[in-house]
Amino acid sequence: MVKRGIIIGRFQPPHRGHVEVFKQILREVDELIVVVGSAQESHTLENPFTAGERVLMISKALAEARVDLSRVHIIPIPDVNNNAIWVSHVTSLSPPFEIVYSGNPLVRRLFKEAGFETKTPPMFKRKEYWGTEIRDRMIRGKRWEELVPEAVLEVMREIKAVERLKDLSKTDYLLR
Ligand code: NAP
Repeated sequence: MVKRGIIIGRFQPPHRGHVEVFKQILREVDELIVVVGSAQESHTLENPFTAGERVLMISKALAEARVDLSRVHIIPIPDVNNNAIWVSHVTSLSPPFEIVYSGNPLVRRLFKEAGFETKTPPMFKRKEYWGTEIRDRMIRGKRWEELVPEAVLEVMREIKAVERLKDLSKTDYLLR
């Protein structure tokens, strides 16, 4: 039987730490489902990129890392306003899986209560590879490019990501 694991994150944006986590999990399972969570979110400071942009960034980063893409399924899933039904929402949209990888205690609790095996994935250079820090650096004009895979950088350039974040930071500042 195929052993499938699932990892759920917002990937705003996907960075080198995420790719290392995916590669590590792929040593433990036959196939990995990468869920792009909060898929309904985009164009905010916390969630600047659309689900489609994040799927593109992840698949290109995995290809660049020479990961066998036939072993990876990348799917976007929007949030639901009810934690008690979230696991069944995820399972209704995902390929079947047995093991849930998450560093988030709420995610682990919800899947554990639903009878799934849960594991905490390893963290790679956490102080360097951190979505919040990368978004902040992009807005402040500090160096961030080496924190994401080259393939992600290319998509970021294509979608003018820095320009978007800088504009959003102006808008959000006015709304605060
Ligand atoms: P997240 O928002 O992507 O991550 C939260 C924090 O954990 C971020 O700082 C993230 O860093 C960090 N992190 C994630 N994976 C890591 C790893 N392997 N090593 C070190 N740090 C890591 O993901 P999440 O909070 O775990 O939530 C997952 C998704 O599920 C979200 O989209 C959430 O909205 C959704 N969810 C929905 C419901 C519902 O709809 N009711 C309930 C539960 C969860 P980076 O930014 O660097 O990744």
